[in-house]
Amino acid sequence: MKNICVFCGSSPGTDPRFMEEAVRCGTLIAQAGLTLVYGGGKVGLMGAVADAALAAGGRVLGVMPEDLVNAEIAHRGLTELHVVQSMHERKLRMADLSDAFLCLPGGPGTFEEIFEQWTWALLGIHAKPCGFVNVSGYYDLTRETIQKMADNGFIGQPYVDMLIYADGTAEALDAFRGYVAPPPKWSTANPRP
Ligand code: AMP
Repeated sequence: MKNICVFCGSSPGTDPRFMEEAVRCGTLIAQAGLTLVYGGGKVGLMGAVADAALAAGGRVLGVMPEDLVNAEIAHRGLTELHVVQSMHERKLRMADLSDAFLCLPGGPGTFEEIFEQWTWALLGIHAKPCGFVNVSGYYDLTRETIQKMADNGFIGQPYVDMLIYADGTAEALDAFRGYVAPPPKWSTANPRP
């Protein structure tokens, strides 16, 4: 595991613990000798993770679509800023560059990004871990909703259990190191019903 992708809010959120964890997250990733991959912005939790990783001497790769360079204020102090054509290209580039996906609190963009990587993982498009840092219980209801998917027969329990929930970034990074991917949803181990 070399590159960790962090998805998080382009806003700071209202609970000060969100920002505190974002700073801790960037710092820990850098101190662990890992490279941070993220959306490339200077604002909200995104900017805080990147600033903290850089301040701790880490490498930070940002990936941003042209249209958002001004709106999300591209961070100009990154190790590399990849400016791409579209949001789809951004997400693919971030996925290709990363070995694991960590989700801090955030809004619709954050949810979309982590759910995309989780669905790719369960389809076997990649075998990389996905985790939530559940600051202040922010992802409690998400976890319940995901369990409901299995309880109602839309996914198997292994695809619920493959998701990591941690109280903090340090715990999530430990869980990533021990991660074993389940067999893909439509593999011979799990034939299509
Ligand atoms: P948010 O969590 O909504 O503050 O957004 C976090 C990041 O996700 C930002 O870099 C947004 O540009 C990005 N984002 C917003 N909407 C989408 C979307 N529909 N698909 C993928 N990423 C998005």
